[in-house]
Amino acid sequence: MAEFKVLVTDDVHESCAEILRSRGCRVTVKPSLTKEELIKAVKEYDAIVVRGRTKLTRDVIMEAQSLKVIGRAGVGLDNIDLKAASEKGIKVVASPQASTVAVAEATMALILALARMIPEANKMLKEGLWLKSKFMGFELRGKLLGIIGFGRIGKAVAKRALAFDMKVMAYDIRDIREEAESMGVKVATTLEELLRESDIITLHIPLNESTWHMIGEREISLMKRGAIIVNTSRGGIVDTKALLKALKEGKLAGAALDVFENEPPKTKEEWELIRLPNVVVTPHIASQTWEAQVAAASMIAEEVYKALHETSSTVR
Ligand code: NAD
Repeated sequence: MAEFKVLVTDDVHESCAEILRSRGCRVTVKPSLTKEELIKAVKEYDAIVVRGRTKLTRDVIMEAQSLKVIGRAGVGLDNIDLKAASEKGIKVVASPQASTVAVAEATMALILALARMIPEANKMLKEGLWLKSKFMGFELRGKLLGIIGFGRIGKAVAKRALAFDMKVMAYDIRDIREEAESMGVKVATTLEELLRESDIITLHIPLNESTWHMIGEREISLMKRGAIIVNTSRGGIVDTKALLKALKEGKLAGAALDVFENEPPKTKEEWELIRLPNVVVTPHIASQTWEAQVAAASMIAEEVYKALHETSSTVR
């Protein structure tokens, strides 16, 4: 049987390499490749496993010679040019279900942190300031949480929000009536309906051409005065400038963000947004739990191995 050469880039948990080696693959782990090294690698390897850092853009993929499979440990394929991969006959596989609970729990953590001003209160107290009266929060109970994207993570967030006695509404481009209604979630027939009615809006959709800047000035103008936006999906879905303006003008009461248009952030607007007192931020860590990383790595190892065998039976 052919020995497949697999390259693991990015910080993928070691269980991925262990599983592939135990199946006879020759695995090289290089978590921080430069673009030049990556271009060389796509010529040499049968499969590459990445997380979100490595950008498999068209110019990189077009250099591929023996590459048959790209594995994305986790969810979100926006760092891979899928069209270019398909043109080259390269199969792209992922392990999307691994991070669902981690991201849903992080979303709830961000909402609660914002509602109770926990980061600011924590910072003040550590600085020696007992400012009890400064921190007046609000309860989640009874508030309407609007979920945009009722897929794996959207549904997991709904389940948790319902346990907090929140009202939940969801919007999706798929027909979600049956799934939503069985959970006690109201379905918004249009995005506008969800934007108008929600107290807190949370995004759980993929970034693609149709969702880039989906939340911009017009969408924010439809939201309730004092609404809150939570984004643990992808930074590019929200127009940073529009969000910054709405927060500064008081149209929105706050934002909780795990993702940014540039990662790490680099524009003046991004840093101004991050530093606002009513904005809670984390550096794209929503899926970073031990459980999710181990699951993503072992699931992607199985997927890559399966795909290599499928392609080798047709290609070789
Ligand atoms: P999923 O595919 O299960 O769900 C996505 C849902 O969005 C689907 O139901 C789909 O129909 C819907 N959708 C797509 N386009 C839409 C649109 N324009 N309007 C409304 N709905 C739309 O994916 P998931 O596992 O729930 O993950 C969602 C996203 O979360 C991922 O694409 C990824 O970008 C992000 N994510 C972030 C992290 C993190 O670390 N912050 C980790 C994992 C996933």
